[in-house]
Amino acid sequence: MPELPEVETVCRGLAVVLEGRRIARLDLRRRDLRIPFPKGLVAAVTGARILKIHRRAKYVLMDLDNDLVLIAHLGMSGRMVVAKKGAPLEKHDHVIFVTDDETEVRFNDPRRFGLLTFTPVSELDGHKLFRHLGPDPLGNRFNPEVLSAALKGRKTSIKTALLDQRIVVGVGNIYACESLYRAGISPKRKASTIPGERAERLVPAIRAVLKEAIASGGSSLRDHKQPSGELGAFQHSWQVYGRPGKPCKRHPDTAIKRIVQGGRSTFFCPRCQT
Ligand SMILES: [Zn+2]
Repeated sequence: MPELPEVETVCRGLAVVLEGRRIARLDLRRRDLRIPFPKGLVAAVTGARILKIHRRAKYVLMDLDNDLVLIAHLGMSGRMVVAKKGAPLEKHDHVIFVTDDETEVRFNDPRRFGLLTFTPVSELDGHKLFRHLGPDPLGNRFNPEVLSAALKGRKTSIKTALLDQRIVVGVGNIYACESLYRAGISPKRKASTIPGERAERLVPAIRAVLKEAIASGGSSLRDHKQPSGELGAFQHSWQVYGRPGKPCKRHPDTAIKRIVQGGRSTFFCPRCQT
């Protein structure tokens, strides 16, 4: 599933080809992804100029010059790729954007957990997709004090808490594991023990891991591709994720362990994460 760095990478790749262009055509090749496309979607965006593409949580937002915002989510398996001129449609190319300079961006989503909708820009902050979300880990509203306040009294593990979008958005399974390793914090530790000194270590660790992942174009699992078609490379920099039984890079005599928390795999070093 794409996490924050992968979605950020998609936004940056789309911005290069779409910002400043008009949407000449929007082809919906089915009626829905996870939910039906809203009525009036094609009429709302056709002819509009794309002013800016940016990320909110794990959503791709396109600000249009008609005061509407197009909202896309990649779901489990979605990708948005700039098609080569004349390239045949692929299976699962469900939505096609064509711009006034004939750039074609295809939203391909085999498992169809993705989403495409729109809203007036004035209603974005109160939109049901966004109003319950916590701070963005790369934004100014995320700092050790805010994280400490959100974790106070929480009985769940810190690993599970980091996946809670009300606490912080976009940090999925991979980056939660990597951030906790970097901060030297056990994923099994109760979230309520993090406020204070551990939060002071964890916040910069989360930011650093996410920024490095973005700089590498994200992590390529089965589905993630940048809009250019290039793969991300951050999977080569994983310290713990997907490395059970392999030596810890800080002290090779200890093996990385895998446990299951909240139904998800967690990878960590039992020696340097306490
Ligand atoms: Zn270790």
